[in-house]
Amino acid sequence: MTVPTTDAIVDSVRQALAACGVPQSRLQGDFETRTPITGATLFGVAGDDAASVEATIGRAAAAFPTWRDTPAPVRGQLVKRWGELLTEHKADLAAIITAEAGKITSEALGEVQEMIDICDLALGQSRQLFGKTMPSERPGHRLMETWHPLGVVGIISAFNFPAAVWSWNTALALVCGNTVVWKPSEMTALTALAADALLARAVTEVGAPADLHHVVVSDRSGGEVLVEDPRVALLSATGSVRMGREVAPKVAARFGKILLELGGNNAAIVAPSADLDLAVRGIVFAAAGTAGQRCTSMRRVIAHSSVIDELRNRIVAAYGTLAIGSPTAEETLVGPLINKASFDKMQAALRQAEAEGGKVECGGVRVLADEAADAYYVEPAVVTMPSQTEIVKAETFAPILYLIGYDELDEAIGLNNAVPQGLSSAIFTSDQGEAERFLSSAGSDTGIANVNIGTSGAEIGGAFGGEKETGGGRESGSDAWQSYMRPATNTVNYSGELPLAQGVEFV
Ligand code: NAD
Repeated sequence: MTVPTTDAIVDSVRQALAACGVPQSRLQGDFETRTPITGATLFGVAGDDAASVEATIGRAAAAFPTWRDTPAPVRGQLVKRWGELLTEHKADLAAIITAEAGKITSEALGEVQEMIDICDLALGQSRQLFGKTMPSERPGHRLMETWHPLGVVGIISAFNFPAAVWSWNTALALVCGNTVVWKPSEMTALTALAADALLARAVTEVGAPADLHHVVVSDRSGGEVLVEDPRVALLSATGSVRMGREVAPKVAARFGKILLELGGNNAAIVAPSADLDLAVRGIVFAAAGTAGQRCTSMRRVIAHSSVIDELRNRIVAAYGTLAIGSPTAEETLVGPLINKASFDKMQAALRQAEAEGGKVECGGVRVLADEAADAYYVEPAVVTMPSQTEIVKAETFAPILYLIGYDELDEAIGLNNAVPQGLSSAIFTSDQGEAERFLSSAGSDTGIANVNIGTSGAEIGGAFGGEKETGGGRESGSDAWQSYMRPATNTVNYSGELPLAQGVEFV
């Protein structure tokens, strides 16, 4: 396998940025961009400082009243056009995602498809910002609920879904009548510039206010400005639990709204009746895909003692066939880790797992170091653990899959739930009773719980998010749009009298 040269990556990224319409003026500056494919710097772009982020929030706040007063179905026309432009430039945006986040091409295209899908959903949602009407206890009165935009929505996003997470938030925030300021990961600024440029084209074409969306290029300090600024009515922050712990109390202190999408530690239970062919495919994609760098990546398999040995052998065999290398190559299934720090954390986790009694069955070894000395390609690892030890309870953002045995379903559900995170989980079983128990309130405690399918690869039609240290937020489908609006309860009196509620008598 050959890793492309950094020059070749720079050329293809520049072409894709131009195709997406990123102004040349943004493509020079001191803020360095980088590719995990070779580990090298690509080129500098214009960065933002605290003062420019504050000014940007001001422009988004000034654009809010006009956008708020635009009828929601008219706002829907913006996301409709945005979705068309994303479809037209799917390959361009995917190429930049591959270069900057290291995703293999089919996963990068899948990420852009998610953006197109959320535009479709948001277009429909623009005509369905439903409020309820409730029967009033008083004659000649109507009791109802109306939903209103919030103002400026600040979005902080992580490197591993460098565009889709922003689009989930932005498409809904915009049809709900808000304006948006986005602080993407410092590791994926080019993807952000390209994605934002496509939205800018849609804004111009449909005649929406230019200032209703902004991207700021910065390290975490730009995010800190969004966190502190009272003009940011809702902060939607995606990233590590560490980040969530830092930002949540600050937003709470100013009584801002917050939507948190933080780390996961996702497990699959494999029951005695499981279809092992299906389970192995589901596990391998969820655990090794995206080089284990999804919030929903599978990190634990809790397998019944009657199937664990066969399952382990089959997973290890499947791992042996995975092509590891440049994500630009058609045959590659596992691309690079994002950086050296990520590789070091993976090695430290493997050593800790061994110290806690684990046995590394395969993987963990760095490859392609001779071709790309500054990039970090690694064989996905499978580790058998004697129990759910401390390292198994932590999210290591790399491809390590821990295998643990169980005898009774309640024990397996207990292990599934006995971690601080609560994002995604799955059970592989042919026993309907087991599946229903897993999905019941006595079952898995995660925000996403699946049967006979892995933990990753959610569709946008359902609400996405998780409990406990994952932060409790929900994005995308179902009722997630309500996070971007404020409900008001209205009582309308058309009786000509003034009866008071609860029968209270006054003047
Ligand atoms: P990270 O927490 O290092 O950074 C995420 C973003 O937060 C970046 O834009 C960063 O600049 C910003 N940030 C960091 N500290 C901040 C602070 N104190 N104030 C304001 N902004 C701050 O995460 P990462 O390494 O980019 O991404 C990996 C993590 O994200 C994993 O834990 C993964 O599980 C999680 N993640 C969760 C979801 C989800 O939907 N639940 C989705 C993707 C990633």
